[in-house]
Amino acid sequence: WETSLDVERYVPTHCCFCGVQCGMYLKVANGKVVGVEPREDFPLNHGMLCPKGTNAYQLVHHPDRLRQPLMRKGGKKSSLEPVSWEEALDTIVQRFQEVQRAYGRDAVAVFSGSTMTNEKCYLMGKFARVALGTRHIDYNGRLCMSSATGANERALGIDRAANPISDMLHADCIFVIGANVGECFPIITSYLWQARDRGCKLIVADPRQTPIARTADMFLPLRPGTDLALLTGMLHVLIKEGLSNEAFIRERTVGWEETRALAELYPPERVARVCGLRADAIVEAARLYGRARAALIYTARGLEHQSKGVDNGLAAINLALATGNFGRPGAGYCTLTGQGNGQGGREVGQKATQLPGCREIEDPEDRAYICSVWGIREDELPHAGYPATLMIPAMLRGEIRACLLICSNPLVSLPDLHTAERAFRSLDFFVVIDPFLSETAELADVVLPGNLWAEEEGTTTSLEGRVIKYNQAVDPPGGWQDWQTICELARRLGKGQYFAYRSPRDIFDELRLCTRGAKSDYWGISYEKIEEQGGVFWPCPDEEHPGTPRLYEERFGFPDGRARFHAVPYIPPAEEPDETYPFVLTTGRVIYHYLSGNQTRRIPFLREMAPYPWVELHEQTAQRLGVADGDWVTVRTRRGEMTAPALVVRTIRPDTLFIPYHYGQSQAVNQLTNPVLEPMMKIPEFKVCAAAIEKAPGP
Ligand code: SF4
Repeated sequence: WETSLDVERYVPTHCCFCGVQCGMYLKVANGKVVGVEPREDFPLNHGMLCPKGTNAYQLVHHPDRLRQPLMRKGGKKSSLEPVSWEEALDTIVQRFQEVQRAYGRDAVAVFSGSTMTNEKCYLMGKFARVALGTRHIDYNGRLCMSSATGANERALGIDRAANPISDMLHADCIFVIGANVGECFPIITSYLWQARDRGCKLIVADPRQTPIARTADMFLPLRPGTDLALLTGMLHVLIKEGLSNEAFIRERTVGWEETRALAELYPPERVARVCGLRADAIVEAARLYGRARAALIYTARGLEHQSKGVDNGLAAINLALATGNFGRPGAGYCTLTGQGNGQGGREVGQKATQLPGCREIEDPEDRAYICSVWGIREDELPHAGYPATLMIPAMLRGEIRACLLICSNPLVSLPDLHTAERAFRSLDFFVVIDPFLSETAELADVVLPGNLWAEEEGTTTSLEGRVIKYNQAVDPPGGWQDWQTICELARRLGKGQYFAYRSPRDIFDELRLCTRGAKSDYWGISYEKIEEQGGVFWPCPDEEHPGTPRLYEERFGFPDGRARFHAVPYIPPAEEPDETYPFVLTTGRVIYHYLSGNQTRRIPFLREMAPYPWVELHEQTAQRLGVADGDWVTVRTRRGEMTAPALVVRTIRPDTLFIPYHYGQSQAVNQLTNPVLEPMMKIPEFKVCAAAIEKAPGP
């Protein structure tokens, strides 16, 4: 029904459905968003969009959108019914205050999200700590890329990709490990292909032959959970063959001797047995990487969603440091952040342990500075709280008794969902802000209609570290913008003086001040500068500064300017196959869906392309089990079971099963996954658990 004559405005903005943040125009006619066009002028996607970006606009006026607050007026067993904003906001404030009076301030938690603007993410951290006075604020990035954060901070001192994506075009070798680039970051595929056209070698390590692996020069189908062994085995080969960069190691790093000694213990033959690979393939991959003049390593959730996720990231950084692959075009280590604003969302103060600007909440100087910006006393600023994954047991213990959740759907995305559901059901009072009635919102006592990206102005920070700007195309159907909702709740809680913003720009200006002089310094970034430059890379310390696309050209992010090697030994995954559960189950994403699928499952084209989950298994496994393609199979783990159709392929290891994770309730693979946590960053081991499979009669 759209014709070019209908279109009144082309609103420049970005796609919200992954960290690439492709530039797009929203087409507006008669006050409605009627279509989308890719932006040629945005320096990353150059006129390309993937299926999610092309279809995202269909959500804006979707019939499932929440238009009015919903509330259970007759207690937990009653159904959600429409109420006025006045009644909903009054009830939220009254119930939060009752819980805090009875059980203390920390009895209320805030569970936030990262598919939101920096302004909203920042506001959630301030709202929790200043308006509610609780120490329990964390976000769904805990389930996403937090291992990479831990590795970046420990080894390099700064939590950001080292290079802009365009650096791929300067690399002689790109090593992708645990990143399904073709499906999760489709537009980046074009950079990999351009790099290959220029002679760059592509190595891919993954238990599945993902689309990008099919075009790689080398594919290493490693056993799930063995990434660290492979990376350290490659380091062993590099050292043996004299491919380490001793001058770089001497001048720019510390800790090499311990790491070198550890790598001695990882000869290719031993590593090959651990990883289920050929020893000569490990040697060849190490040579390809080590002989490159400039090489890049890309990781993502495959390597990070493990109980050893931080160590895996450190092992990848060891490889890059040992070969001097930092601070030059085409040389670096980058995590591909998955969520739309996964980068900004982790910098601006909604993490359990951090204040805006990646400032440490337990650092006296950082605390004093943020208190001075916020105008509160230091004893009024709460200390570190529970990460999102530890909020679940705290709910079950009755320590957290009420929760405000925004822009997240943990009842699809947490591991061991049966336990997670019991935790949310045990709350005395539960509020959700979301554009749709998600699986999690269905359990809430009050649901407030939230915004989509097309309905607000604000900034995000792409997976490159580029701060970009969203522009508002239409008003939200519920009438309120999320930032206004949060500020109004703060006002009713008696803290309105700290939330007297007139627009997202006011919030951004305060955020800039909070980050001034910090590692993720936004001080020199303004809305105007973003628009003039097509985005600005942080750190950007003053108005004249152009931004910093490539990190570590001269110094790493520690006071002495040197990077840290870490001697991290290989430790197997928490669950390994045994007689009862003889397979490894791994999970991941598909090109047609985003995160929990709360939004993309409502878009007709995307739903048609991937309407339900499936169990991917190798044809040898299928033959042994007597399973044909399309047959129903039941997969069991120690947490539960689910039944889905089989997809019989040759592109997965015969000892491994794969199920995509975007689906809820009986179709949720996270009923089965292991809630064991990485010790430092508390990210669950989504990518490895022991499983059994058998043919089933049907759903
Ligand atoms: Fe670009 Fe990612 Fe959106 Fe696809 S989902 S259009 S790659 S931002």
